[in-house]
Amino acid sequence: MPSPRPSEQNIAKLRNFVQKYCDKSGTTVHPDPEVTEAVVLGLAQNADTIGRPLCPCRFYPDKGAEVKHRTWICACDDMQIYKYCHCLLFVNKEGLPITEYLPEEHEGRRMYGLVKDPTPDKGRPLRAQAEKREEERRTRPS
Ligand code: SF4
Repeated sequence: MPSPRPSEQNIAKLRNFVQKYCDKSGTTVHPDPEVTEAVVLGLAQNADTIGRPLCPCRFYPDKGAEVKHRTWICACDDMQIYKYCHCLLFVNKEGLPITEYLPEEHEGRRMYGLVKDPTPDKGRPLRAQAEKREEERRTRPS
């Protein structure tokens, strides 16, 4: 059975967040509006059920426990550190995620190659935490 539609309140909140975060990070939404819509609905669904917009493009054995780590609450650590959005919610004009700052062994580099950041003066407020994030990726694969 399909999940019920998330609350209009959280859908509106997430749409607003996406617009603002695009401006702040110098990214754009995907050229295919259906991609954006699917991610927004997934984020709103998680906001409805667990109280936070946990990234909808990953599997979590325990969503409640995952929320406590904060790693995948949108905008997630990979976005705030590397400007990489694996859900393709925040991308460049061609619809590609920015991979320029990712470690070379990151899945994003393997999937998309090197995608340069068109607005290097914007975003990445947590860039100083890259080392900590990679340590987490090793010790708590997520
Ligand atoms: S990958 Fe990160 S920035 Fe992109 S939708 Fe998921 S949580 Fe948000």
